[in-house]
Amino acid sequence: MSAPVNEALIRDVVAEVLGRLGKLAPLPAGAPETAQPAAPAPAPAAPARAAASGGRRFGVFQDAHEACEAAAAAFLQLREKGVAARRKVVEIIKTLADANAVEWGRIELEETKIGRLDHKIEKLKIIKLVPGVEWLHPDGLSGDHGITLEEYTPFGVIGAITPSTHSIPTLSGNVVNMVAAGNAAVFNAHPAASRCAALAVRVYNEAIFRETGIENLITIIEQPTLESFKALCTNEHVRILCVTGGPGVVKAAMQSGKRAICAGPGNPPVLVDDTCDLDRAAQCVIKGAAYDNNLLCIGEKEVFVLHHIADKFMDAMARHGAVRLSSPQVERLAKEAFTFQPGHGAGCPEPVLNKQVVGKDATYLAKLAGANVPDKTELLFAETDASHPFVLEEQMTPFIPVVRVKDVQEGIVLAKTAERNYRHTSIIHSRNVEHMTAMARALDTTLFIKNGPCMAGLGLGGEGYLSYSIATPTGEGITNPKTFTRVRRCVMVDNLRIY
Ligand code: NAD
Repeated sequence: MSAPVNEALIRDVVAEVLGRLGKLAPLPAGAPETAQPAAPAPAPAAPARAAASGGRRFGVFQDAHEACEAAAAAFLQLREKGVAARRKVVEIIKTLADANAVEWGRIELEETKIGRLDHKIEKLKIIKLVPGVEWLHPDGLSGDHGITLEEYTPFGVIGAITPSTHSIPTLSGNVVNMVAAGNAAVFNAHPAASRCAALAVRVYNEAIFRETGIENLITIIEQPTLESFKALCTNEHVRILCVTGGPGVVKAAMQSGKRAICAGPGNPPVLVDDTCDLDRAAQCVIKGAAYDNNLLCIGEKEVFVLHHIADKFMDAMARHGAVRLSSPQVERLAKEAFTFQPGHGAGCPEPVLNKQVVGKDATYLAKLAGANVPDKTELLFAETDASHPFVLEEQMTPFIPVVRVKDVQEGIVLAKTAERNYRHTSIIHSRNVEHMTAMARALDTTLFIKNGPCMAGLGLGGEGYLSYSIATPTGEGITNPKTFTRVRRCVMVDNLRIY
């Protein structure tokens, strides 16, 4: 009988020979041929790259089921290598996200054409703020009947869907959380932001393989489609889904038959009352709403301000660099930003956001509005009424409508309507604790920020930690490693309790 073929050994030998032929530096056994980001484009197709990498895919797959199989095998390898390997992977992701932030930020912006380069870079640099393995502590119980340990253990393979608004950041943050908890992950990125995601997955896997020997711990479908999403949803290895996106994907995930952790849409309202520091409020609104051209799901999207301080507030906005549009200019912009389709019920036209304006610069929007603004303008604003589509639709643009309200009560009612029961994020600028409490109770949002910009809710200038997936409709909140665990109880009966 012939001896069994050791495929892994053969692959390693082939990789080493190919490396030496290519006059590369000598490789450690089993190491990939590069650890640096591949050239952004054009990339060779996955099978060609795999052949050139000694058969290794480094997480990039054409077929969803193959991606799931590979992640399932990687999960077993991670389990074998223990918590030290999880720690190492988390360190790799944080280090590479930081080291590649400038390059990857540029590549993501070039591919998606939405948002701002400075913030695309920053969103990668701050991946280090996402909690890792240190977040997980078992719970112990001890009594007359012995001792019990409750541990936070992995599911196995997690299917993850990421948005176009922050493709590599969401992927990276999800990987930190999911791997810290001991899982492997399969990603279906947004088709308009999938090349940059695949690039990051490849670079992460190269380093993970080099440092831990684990292959394909994070996999991705190179050309994501609705079919590949459905394949993830039906694959037996995928134990849970984590989706980050708008209403369509949340609905699809909830109907998939798998448990889904859904980080859904938001339309965060801001209430400004007459007890607050108006300059601070204006600066906070500008900082949050201008960030990455208002692509953040937590970003300030509309302001309700008490009528007798509304002019002062808008003056403060202008003083701090936002540019005010006139009513005709807003209407011109609205015609470009929305398509009005025949509506349901009473027949009112329904506004549908025109994707061409999403995440574009304020200067671009100003041109559409017919306004001349300085080149450095980060945010536009204008007074509108409460039923304007700019108030009621989640419009991810650096334009923020300001609505006058007669009192705090009316402001809260209108803010609740604008928030659309997403229960995502709301913000108040006030020194009155009763106003804060009333708004918190009425809107019941996952994040409620007082006297700060939206990002204070994610540990950036406020206490807390960072995540790019805030699970709103399904209630897990700001996701962290514990979100991606199953609780298992281990019971010792009548023993080991010494006193
Ligand atoms: P999107 O809903 O268009 O896409 C999100 C992801 O879902 C993409 O991967 C897309 O391919 C996929 N998708 C969309 N419809 C689908 C369907 N019917 N079936 C299967 N997959 C589908 O959103 P986007 O424009 O990429 O991102 C912006 C949206 O995401 C906003 O609504 C924003 O509020 C939300 N978001 C939420 C969070 C959060 O943490 N809650 C974070 C980021 C973005």
